[in-house]
Amino acid sequence: MNLHQLSLTAMAEGLAARKFSSRELTQHYLDRIAQYDKQLNSYVTLTAHAALDAADVADTRRTKGEVGGLLAGIPIAQKDIFCTEGVRTACGSKMLDRFVAPYSATIIDKLHRDAGMVMLGKLNMDEFAMGSSNETSFYGPVKNPWDVTRVPGGSSGGSVAAVAAGLAPVATATDTGGSIRQPAAFTNLTGIKPTYGRVSRYGMIAFASSLDQAGVVARSTEDAALILQAMSGFDPLDSTSIERPVDDLVGGLGKSIKGLKIGLPKEYFADGMSAGVRSCVEAAIAQLKALGAVVSEISLPNAPLSVPTYYVVAPAEASSNLARMDGVRFGHRSQEARNLEELYKKSRGEGFGPEVQRRIMIGTYVLSHGYYDAYYLQAQKVRNLIYQDFKRAYEAVDVILAPTTTDVAFKFGDKSDDPVAMYLNDIYTIAANLAGIPAMSLPCGFSDGLPVGFQLMGNYFDEARLLNVAHQYQQATDFHNQSPKEFL
Ligand code: GLN
Repeated sequence: MNLHQLSLTAMAEGLAARKFSSRELTQHYLDRIAQYDKQLNSYVTLTAHAALDAADVADTRRTKGEVGGLLAGIPIAQKDIFCTEGVRTACGSKMLDRFVAPYSATIIDKLHRDAGMVMLGKLNMDEFAMGSSNETSFYGPVKNPWDVTRVPGGSSGGSVAAVAAGLAPVATATDTGGSIRQPAAFTNLTGIKPTYGRVSRYGMIAFASSLDQAGVVARSTEDAALILQAMSGFDPLDSTSIERPVDDLVGGLGKSIKGLKIGLPKEYFADGMSAGVRSCVEAAIAQLKALGAVVSEISLPNAPLSVPTYYVVAPAEASSNLARMDGVRFGHRSQEARNLEELYKKSRGEGFGPEVQRRIMIGTYVLSHGYYDAYYLQAQKVRNLIYQDFKRAYEAVDVILAPTTTDVAFKFGDKSDDPVAMYLNDIYTIAANLAGIPAMSLPCGFSDGLPVGFQLMGNYFDEARLLNVAHQYQQATDFHNQSPKEFL
């Protein structure tokens, strides 16, 4: 078996048994990136020298008999939304094209400084994580390794393309309205967005602070659980981080799901899904029933209001968060300005792409005097109703199952001229962000040769149960083991 086909646990075992070194493993990925990434554009910054140095440190420690954690010496790639000290952190934007972060995000410290993982580089993404196709990136679109004429999904398109093509064993990602789950579904990966507050947002460039959550995309639930475990936990540097012990996510993986109560929200199974997606998701439901789960229909009556609610709340928060990108405090500074007002206008006009500008305008509009009550306040009320729906649902069921996307990955350009069509991509994923609950997507088949994912949503802080259900499903199915043929 090739090194890049190994699970993280198998990699850790190979390192421990000295079958290969961290340097060899790291070099293997660097070679694959050199060979394949021109086709995909998944990396925006490679940190090859630092990666090999970090690998050597891991190898030396091992030789000396110093016990590292399971992940020590294993490579990972980071979405370019996380600040990495001394390494450019551009967030997919011209605005931050020359921004070198002066400190690292908490999750970067946890994965590298604490767990001893090796950073291969920074991954492409939609500009400021706004998008569903990776077409808004200043660094150009990322291609889907399953079909390079199609989008990988967004905004974590670089993360999924790199992992699906074997250019990284695993990657971090973020999810404000679906950016972990939708791209995972489009590329046959397992992606999890934990409960809001579970993973620190410190050093993660803010898009919509009350919705943003960091997570992971991986080739299996077990891999995802290992990384999420290492990322999770209270962080005094993030005021929305929750002080609550982290469950044993990996150790919790072997439990039977006999009697598990799964709810199918009828609003998610109405029209809208393609026939291919429907048949794969139905097969997944049948599989979970065969494993002993008890399935029933539930209702989340306000779920259809998720997209309009999100497109008030998210732009409002984004317009405020992005105010700091003014060419003075942060970001691109125009060379053309002749006075202060022009400096702001031109710096922001040149630095931000069209989708980001659209969101800023929507956001400032819904927050402005006279419109605030009609839009922003109203959206907050609906958000609360969506939260109440989930709260009620979890009194009756343990997990909620739904499709992740309406269809398989679409072609480049198909939706880029129609913002609303693009926004509707997240119709099944956004409610989980508005409520703050954990949710994941995992592979459940193929439609016309393209991957299909289904979604599991859990109650607050129920990541361990969610991952266990996903793991049991993956023990019984083989979809997640399929890789795109061109990148074997
Ligand atoms: N596609 C959604 C948007 O464009 C969600 C993005 C995300 O989750 N970061 O806002």
